[in-house]
Amino acid sequence: MKTILPGQTIGIIGGGQLGRMMGLAAKEAGFKIAVLDPTMDSPCGQIADIQIVAPYNDEAALEELGEVSDVITYEFENIDYEGLKRLSEIAHVPQGANLVRITQNRIAEKAEIQQAGAPVAPYIAAQSFDELKSAIDTIGFPCIVKTAFGGYDGKGQVKLDSLNQLQEAESLFAHSACIAEAFVPFVKEISVIIQRNAAGESYCLPVAENIHQHHILHESIVPARVSSNVIEQAEAAARKIADHLQLVGTLAVEMFVLENDDILINELAPRPHNSGHYSIEACNVSQFHQHIRAICGWPLRKPKLWAPSIMVNVLGEHVTPLIRVVKEYPDWSVHLYGKTEAKEKRKMGHITIMTDDIDNTLQEIIATGIWAE
Ligand code: AMP
Repeated sequence: MKTILPGQTIGIIGGGQLGRMMGLAAKEAGFKIAVLDPTMDSPCGQIADIQIVAPYNDEAALEELGEVSDVITYEFENIDYEGLKRLSEIAHVPQGANLVRITQNRIAEKAEIQQAGAPVAPYIAAQSFDELKSAIDTIGFPCIVKTAFGGYDGKGQVKLDSLNQLQEAESLFAHSACIAEAFVPFVKEISVIIQRNAAGESYCLPVAENIHQHHILHESIVPARVSSNVIEQAEAAARKIADHLQLVGTLAVEMFVLENDDILINELAPRPHNSGHYSIEACNVSQFHQHIRAICGWPLRKPKLWAPSIMVNVLGEHVTPLIRVVKEYPDWSVHLYGKTEAKEKRKMGHITIMTDDIDNTLQEIIATGIWAE
């Protein structure tokens, strides 16, 4: 396992908030940061030592990142797989490129989850709109049709309740194959963030319960309010997937919890995840510190939760009302990512609140009026 040490440079593909928080964690220990992003002074660019401003798939820029960096990581999965693969031949990319290839494609991702022995909702891949009709004959209604490539935050998917709505799914096939997936009547959504180094050492962060609004993560509550049986199943599934994929770095595993306490895996993200931001304050090791340890070939630290916590996302429309009241809430840890344009629904920051009374704190968050539904 190659070791990277303080003073050396970590190259990050992608300059968003995940890159920024990775970079901040690494800089605490004295690493240098180089970032590749199409915009100057991106959230990560603002805290980086070296900025390479170019598209993510620009071959020369990737090579330049490889030259200035001792290790390369990425902050999101929709980067160019071929470019990352080529880079891994000339630079140290401990995470490899394969996980990016798999998680870019829902069809490949589901197949890998099943091969790992973890459960997914019934689904059928459809290469064309014609194939969708026969897939839905088998899956039934209600179902969700999702593009194989490029969907996020509910984009690239349509829920169908009956055959009359079938046409609504046609446009999804314009750019990509799709899957038809049974609608899951879940009672909760949870996520497990698992981190693993090249020596095969792995730890899960405490399981988060995730509440979405308009398909975007709104709140994560930790520990998730589920039975110990669910926690055990969730961690065991994450571990099976991480071992099967020979994970190095971070994998976020999003899951549905059913009424009978069974779990189904929804999707994977091969990077630190919005639902793990609470770990910055609430754990002895944040998802970002642990990610840096994993890619730098260091032993991992066993995570410990200091206190139950709630993380609330701050979208564009929340920034001004948040700033107006923030000084009145000394218990809130506020993170803003340095994005200049506060567009509606854009992730601008988050707050974390450690609390002994989750229900009461949830009520306090509602009472601020900042996060109107
Ligand atoms: P995804 O893009 O797959 O993460 O889906 C976004 C959100 O849509 C999930 O967090 C769920 O709230 C919902 N969703 C996705 N797939 C299903 C499903 N099969 N059944 C019910 N809800 C789903």
